[in-house]
Amino acid sequence: ASMPVITIDGPSGSGKGTVCRLLAQKLGWDVLDSGAIYRVLALAALHHQIALDSEEALVPLAANLDVQFEFDNETDSSKIILEGEEVTHGIRNEEVGAAASKVAALPRVREALLRRQRAFRSENGLIADGRDMGTVVFPDAEVKIYLTASAEERAERRFKELKERGLDVTLGGLLEDIKARDERDMNRSVAPLVPADDAITVDTTQLNAEQVFAQVNKILEDAV
Ligand code: C5P
Repeated sequence: ASMPVITIDGPSGSGKGTVCRLLAQKLGWDVLDSGAIYRVLALAALHHQIALDSEEALVPLAANLDVQFEFDNETDSSKIILEGEEVTHGIRNEEVGAAASKVAALPRVREALLRRQRAFRSENGLIADGRDMGTVVFPDAEVKIYLTASAEERAERRFKELKERGLDVTLGGLLEDIKARDERDMNRSVAPLVPADDAITVDTTQLNAEQVFAQVNKILEDAV
């Protein structure tokens, strides 16, 4: 089919980002990091001092968001420009992640971002990373994968990653953040985090990145 899509959904820290990058490199497809869109919106709201629960103010912000995403397969990196300012790294912290999950709970905000996400579909093929890629944004995707892992394991992974980047975090604090984020993402009224009916679930708790990638590739082979 033209414009094929593979969706990778799951909670934060389940390893989606890594799998998406590896798949994009292997297949030469484009990537949609939908979480980055919610993070950028949250950052814009923080900049403009818009309350994170004000659907009324956030909907126009979401609809008119001045943002550019450039994903580079060759260098395996993406660059994000918000209102003329590079925010590629500025959106990758716990504060913005928590704010993103608040704005993402608002139904009309999600609605306002739908078209922007669907526009990433391309002739090259698309790997879509998020929470509702298979359920809401690309329900007709060729292959749907749901990655999960225990909250403890995900906190551990995030801890290592942030420590390596020199950030001052505690494991306990990260576990609490992850649980709070899961709670919000799984229990919201629209597009809650659940596997699509036709998704294949991979529990990555006991697996390293290489093993996860191998399982995902097996799923893709079986699907064609
Ligand atoms: O994946 P990431 O941690 O960057 O996403 C940040 C937040 O954005 C998530 O906690 C979730 O609340 C929200 N999100 C969403 N739907 C998506 C992707 C992200 O609600 N498709």
